Amino acid sequence: MPALYRTYRPQNFQQVIGQEIIKTTLQNAIINNRTVHSYLFSGPRGTGKTTMARIFSKALNCINRQPNLAEPCNTCINCKSINDNAFIDLIEIDAASNRGIDEIRNLKEAIRFAPSQKNGYKIYIIDEAHMLTKDASNALLKTLEEPPSNTIFILATTDAHKMIPTILSRVQKFDFKPLAHSELKQKILFIAKEEKVKIDEQVVNQIILQAMGGARDAESILGKLISAGTEDITIDFASAILGKNSYFEAYTLLEFLSQNQIYLAIRHIHKLYASGYGIDQLIVNLLTISHNIFLLQIENSLIQKESLLDDEYSKLESLALTISKVKIRNFIQSLEIIKSQTHTAYLPYLPLELVIAQIWEIDNMNNNEKNIISDNIDNTIITKSDIKLAPKTKPVENTPPLNTPPAPTITQPKDSPVVKETSGSADVYSVYKIYPAINKALTKTNKSLAIIFAQTQPVDIIDNTIVIAVESDFYRSRLDKNTKLILEYITEHYPSILGINFVTKKVSSINTMNIEPNNDFNAEDDEKPKDINDTIADIFKDSL
Ligand SMILES: [Zn+2]
Repeated sequence: MPALYRTYRPQNFQQVIGQEIIKTTLQNAIINNRTVHSYLFSGPRGTGKTTMARIFSKALNCINRQPNLAEPCNTCINCKSINDNAFIDLIEIDAASNRGIDEIRNLKEAIRFAPSQKNGYKIYIIDEAHMLTKDASNALLKTLEEPPSNTIFILATTDAHKMIPTILSRVQKFDFKPLAHSELKQKILFIAKEEKVKIDEQVVNQIILQAMGGARDAESILGKLISAGTEDITIDFASAILGKNSYFEAYTLLEFLSQNQIYLAIRHIHKLYASGYGIDQLIVNLLTISHNIFLLQIENSLIQKESLLDDEYSKLESLALTISKVKIRNFIQSLEIIKSQTHTAYLPYLPLELVIAQIWEIDNMNNNEKNIISDNIDNTIITKSDIKLAPKTKPVENTPPLNTPPAPTITQPKDSPVVKETSGSADVYSVYKIYPAINKALTKTNKSLAIIFAQTQPVDIIDNTIVIAVESDFYRSRLDKNTKLILEYITEHYPSILGINFVTKKVSSINTMNIEPNNDFNAEDDEKPKDINDTIADIFKDSL
């Protein structure tokens, strides 16, 4: 069976999935007779650079092409010989091979010959152009400086930054993007239909995840499955051939963690290991998802939505609201450390268990206490020595004094201040420490309010009324309307507090308290683009 990517290689512009801007620009250049002498197609592997170069070459040499159209006919002698790799005026050079370098050196001689066809184009496609040696690059540069008429160079590369700047300055550059998941899906379903095989949606997703935006990789994975000889590609069948992918299981694990269900999370890891899932891959998947959560918590525009699967964004959103920023950050740092340790560990999943236990620490407390404590040990970073010793986080009795220099954001577990709930004797610090619990409760009743509340800070307690700073009047008016609800959650923990007074105040101006999460808020606020408040305001203005 021929490779699927050859069989289903697009033969005209219309068949190319994705890269819309590049397609349109090239087609306009062909129709308007405004092609240039040298192009650079850069982008990750398998995104269609050489395919596009060949279609472009075909269109320029097609005998039947109408002047006002850019598509090649694919039936004339020129189109056919390009499709058969036999066209004399299309020269493909692989710069990564020694032969390629020699060919470049000989270019100056070869190039003197005009195209064999009247009104035709001689086209050089130089693949892996970043691999050219300095000598070869200089030889090419000379040729690019004085290009003969009707000769076009198309340089294709995965690493444009490795090319010499003088070449880069002489080419028209096109950046090929990894295919969006929806585009890959379209391609996979199209081929499956043509090949008359049924394919589970879960398998399609698995192929997309493995291909990471490369159409050629997606096609070769699909090819493996089809050539295994079944008309119905189920997830079990695919797992037997490709191995099991734990991406969705990683989501399940994070959902348990977001609810502080440590027991279920650990049990889930054991179950996955017993059913043959690789722990390394599970860790990589946890890293991928946690990184997206981390980005979403900073600013949602940082997320590349086209790289997400269907429904994935809403899952990420809900995890971003329920897992604290510090926890996610610590989790990512710890996963980075343990990702290479599974092979040498006593049990492959032990490092992961320790990371989870230390970040979402639980003791023999009741559930409520568990939630509060686990939210308060946010500043846990796993270091290599921690993993060996697996120390337990000890609650610290006394709260640190106010008005002392801010503590470093990253502290060792034994230094983490953990406040014991002290009903009735509230101070600003202890109220701030129950913010995660309040936010969790708010998220359940009013998600948008929770987002706004998360950006406030308690600053004072005057006559049993807690003073809470909020950055903008807009947020303040929203919070004022919901004072009763928020007060209820606070008095659950501190009955002595009888009222809330929201004040508009720059959060960064109250950075004198020694409250570690406070530092995070400020650091983030400084970097936050100015329009984020307006964006959030727009989204939620009707829901409050
Ligand atoms: Zn043709």
